[in-house]
Amino acid sequence: MRAIEHFIGGQSVAGTSGRHGEVFDPNRGGVQARVSLASSAELDHAVANAAIAQKEWAQVNPQRRARVMFEFKRLLELHMDDLARLLSSEHGKVVSDAKGDLQRGLEVIEFACAIPHLLKGEYTQGAGPGIDVYSARQPLGVVAGITPFNFPAMIPMWMFGPAIACGNAFILKPSERDPSVPVRLAELMIEAGLPPGVLNVVHGDKDTVEAILRHPTIKAVSFVGSSDIAQSVYAHGAQHGKRVQAMGGAKNHGIVLADADLDQTVADLIGAAYGSAGERCMALPVVVPVGQATADALRDKLVVAIQGLRIGPSTDPQAHYGPVINAAHRSRIEAYLQLGVDEGAELVLDGRGFSLPGHEDGFFLGPSLFDHVTADMKTYHEEIFGPVLQIVRAETFDDALALASRHQYGNGVAIFTRNGEAAREFADRGEVRMVGINVPLPVP
Ligand code: NAD
Repeated sequence: MRAIEHFIGGQSVAGTSGRHGEVFDPNRGGVQARVSLASSAELDHAVANAAIAQKEWAQVNPQRRARVMFEFKRLLELHMDDLARLLSSEHGKVVSDAKGDLQRGLEVIEFACAIPHLLKGEYTQGAGPGIDVYSARQPLGVVAGITPFNFPAMIPMWMFGPAIACGNAFILKPSERDPSVPVRLAELMIEAGLPPGVLNVVHGDKDTVEAILRHPTIKAVSFVGSSDIAQSVYAHGAQHGKRVQAMGGAKNHGIVLADADLDQTVADLIGAAYGSAGERCMALPVVVPVGQATADALRDKLVVAIQGLRIGPSTDPQAHYGPVINAAHRSRIEAYLQLGVDEGAELVLDGRGFSLPGHEDGFFLGPSLFDHVTADMKTYHEEIFGPVLQIVRAETFDDALALASRHQYGNGVAIFTRNGEAAREFADRGEVRMVGINVPLPVP
């Protein structure tokens, strides 16, 4: 069976902890690879290596660091197809979505290419009598990133691109569920001219994350994942004196006003709710039509559109979405569907029991639609992270706005309307701060 190993000091390093994770094949079911899970001694080794490499890397001037980023960008573009296929084979998102994942990461690398300008400091003349003051942006040293399964290319690049361009060394602990693309990205960084040891991939699980949070040499941690774990990473990292940024889960709302172009809205909602099988932090799993007539018309159109969705293996270029990441996650989504029924929501379309001919063991799930979901339901409050759309009916614009603003997991929000004044008011008064106006996935 294929083994996925750590990448430390510019080379593949076989795990020695004796602990492994299983990487599934979401299209066919079953295990396709085993990934080594690092012990704290293995992490120590990677960090020690990174600390040495960082000292020299910090001395490389920003223009030369930017050149590595430019070359990495070129290599990413050159290898885009292979990377997308590899990503898709472990994650299950269709290849076009996998390219989007890579493309979004690439845009952050393009940002990092501007590092000579972005690193400029400031100068204050006469801060005190005879005293001028200047500020400079300096690297921290060794920093770490812990990333989720759902964007195995974009999120690692969000983190390591800017950190490395700034002169830091990086320890990436990617999701153990789809770890191959992060390793390929690190290999390409070396090919682009990055000195060995500046970017390291250490695979692992909870134990490895805890070792990262305790490690005295690691100065800062960036985390993206589910909210409970984000909170714990934030607290433990801070306890150990680190700078921490931790981003958690999401439950984004799409508000539909009576004057919206319903056909366009439905097309947008379908892509945003079911694309990538709903496994996106910026998915729109909740739609809030305002007024009963809007709700009824929207529901009818949604049902027709959802019934036309094509679910297929991630390699199928015609498929709207592929399998979910693994069987455990599928069971979790199915449990939420049952809970929604038990809580009294109307399950208009039930995706359970879906089977794809030729891929019967794959982790597929049909699309589901709930209507009459209410704000007191657990299935409304929690993140389902699957191909499930919930209709929550609102009487007024203010009710819809308040609902979206109150939700604990408001990451982004969207409004569908032709009324410019309402759109502006929504953007100004709402408390969720990534706002789409007739844009379903407001990802800046
Ligand atoms: P997850 O929280 O299960 O895992 C994230 C990372 O934490 C992984 O690297 C994992 O190995 C590690 N981890 C798992 N259990 C841990 C524990 N007990 N202690 C410490 N570390 C642990 O998240 P996931 O299922 O991989 O990703 C999906 C989640 O990420 C969703 O909640 C989604 O909304 C969220 N997400 C948020 C954003 C954002 O920008 N806010 C972006 C993408 C994904």
